[in-house]
Amino acid sequence: MLGCTGSIGEQTLDVVRRHGEQLQIVALACGRRVDEMIRAAREFDVRFLACGLDEMPAPSESAEGLELGLGMDAVVDLVRLGEVDLVVNALVGAAGLRASFETLKAGKVLALANKESLVVGGDLIMPMAARVDERRRAAGLAPAAGPAGALMPIDSEHGAIYQCLLGEQHSEVECLWVTASGGPFRGRTRDQLRDVTAAQALAHPTWNMGPKITIDSSTLMNKGLEIIEAHHLFAMPYDRIKVVVQPQSTIHSMVEFADGSVKAHLGTTDMRIPIQFALSYPARWGAPVRPLDFTELGAIEFYPADTDTFRCLALARAAGQEGGTLPCAMNAANEVAVAAFLAGKCSYLGIAETVERVMGAHENAAVESLEQLAAVDEAARQAARNLLGAE
Ligand code: MG
Repeated sequence: MLGCTGSIGEQTLDVVRRHGEQLQIVALACGRRVDEMIRAAREFDVRFLACGLDEMPAPSESAEGLELGLGMDAVVDLVRLGEVDLVVNALVGAAGLRASFETLKAGKVLALANKESLVVGGDLIMPMAARVDERRRAAGLAPAAGPAGALMPIDSEHGAIYQCLLGEQHSEVECLWVTASGGPFRGRTRDQLRDVTAAQALAHPTWNMGPKITIDSSTLMNKGLEIIEAHHLFAMPYDRIKVVVQPQSTIHSMVEFADGSVKAHLGTTDMRIPIQFALSYPARWGAPVRPLDFTELGAIEFYPADTDTFRCLALARAAGQEGGTLPCAMNAANEVAVAAFLAGKCSYLGIAETVERVMGAHENAAVESLEQLAAVDEAARQAARNLLGAE
């Protein structure tokens, strides 16, 4: 469980708590919240731990009897442990790519909450996942019908599409409908967004998530990243991935088929449902939360997304369509701009401006390696910092 103290991590631990007969945690990794990780290690009887930072905050909890590594190398070492057969990657940002890469390289199942792994490295990750799928089929580890399950998405939209596609033919899919809540600023104009503060942007109407993804949800960058994620996961061209705003977040996404039929995935807005499905596939276990009561639900509304106001959605789609290393540069610029916004050093509209300018200066190339992507990521971060420093 990588990223065990974040929002996805905590909810994954809760799923494990409910299904201790099927799931056993072998290793945990975190960022700066080492004490929380140590407490989780005690609760779940886990021996192998890693803190992804280069310098660890001194823990006040005793780590006696635990093996506690330091740095991203130590995090990546955990996925190679012999007892591990599945890795939940809920690391934040582009830093998660290497862990995804090593998980699949080691032939293990990747339950992926780190969408940047696909946004930045989809061209590397998907062929690796296909090879693990082949191995799982050959070893009799895959279900008799449907996907072999080497790469399980832990994103509500992609988990939903994954389920809508079960039992279907790829050639009969007309398009994917990715739903968006629209975030806290739905319906506002650019003028009304000029003075938005971090506290306002952090108040998401439907989903309870970490700060980075909550800001991304408010700018619709999150939906842009999810379009790219869907393109890679489901081998779907960009012109057949549509976005629709569905403010109640009741419909988690939909698939439209050649005959005009549409399948939708509905459920309580709680990430434990997609997390649990990623861990239980192809089985379904008892519900982790109270299921929807449709008699209490009321209306489900739909609106088009406003890409003139929420520029990040259009920018991410353009980056995906262009492909190559451009999504990597786009994502890195966004991470720097969002961190600057949260620190009060970048305006709300400045996030999209920074992303657009870094994209404009990027020299695109085909994706070749992790090392190349790391260099593109660093150069784009530097370019974004320079722009923000100059403002
Ligand atoms: Mg999502």
